[in-house]
Amino acid sequence: MDLIKQALAGNRRALTEHEGKKLLAAYGIPVTREVLVRDRAAAAAAAGEIGYPVVLKGSGADLMHKSESGVVFVKLDNEAAVLAAFDRIADLLGNAFEGALVQEMVSGKRELVLGLHREPQFGPCVMLGLGGVLTEIINDTAFRIAPFDETEAMDMTTQLRAEKIFEAFRGEAPADRETLCRCLSALGRIGLEQAAVSEIDINPVIIKPDGGIMAVDALVVLKEPADDASN
Ligand code: ADP
Ligand code: MG
Repeated sequence: MDLIKQALAGNRRALTEHEGKKLLAAYGIPVTREVLVRDRAAAAAAAGEIGYPVVLKGSGADLMHKSESGVVFVKLDNEAAVLAAFDRIADLLGNAFEGALVQEMVSGKRELVLGLHREPQFGPCVMLGLGGVLTEIINDTAFRIAPFDETEAMDMTTQLRAEKIFEAFRGEAPADRETLCRCLSALGRIGLEQAAVSEIDINPVIIKPDGGIMAVDALVVLKEPADDASN
């Protein structure tokens, strides 16, 4: 895949969020509508196009944990708020500023995390767990070695102690588990087909009020060039 080749050619260890989502989308995983912008006018135009409220995030090859750097601004509901967030991001990142990602704001009370890592003996391994702040507090996860089909992915969802998260919840519809299962097996396929990807962390995947599934963040870590021969 070209965007992975380019990142490797640039000696980068990870894809940006925007690039990572292009990889996920190519495998059928639903991602946010978003536009990468470099100046204030483009930020305002993109927000108008996407429709308020929007989210603005700093973008850069070395920016793996955006909230920690203070460059994630959610629920921006007018142009003045977008411009203020843009200025703040540019200011915080200084020389490291490469652009900002304007993205649709996804509502939904439930957050999941989906992941991919490589087990030395077994190969690509897909993870499903609870997202957001709960990830670190509650250890509730299910794993499968790729490849696996959607029936097995469905088993993963029933393995979570918090399985009820997929049922109707506080006025929100049951989660679209079929799409979630397609996302889980697609992640396994990425692991099998994209040798240069060492790890993927999609945190969070939000369950929308209508039950739809959407990746709002993506971290794709690449192998170091020296690792290439081993796979
Ligand atoms: P980080 O690099 O810190 O993980 P994220 O992109 O995951 O940054 O954003 C931090 C948090 O902001 C997410 O966990 C999520 O709760 C919220 N968030 C981010 N993007 C969106 C979005 N498009 N819609 C709704 N909430 C979002
Ligand atoms: Mg995140």
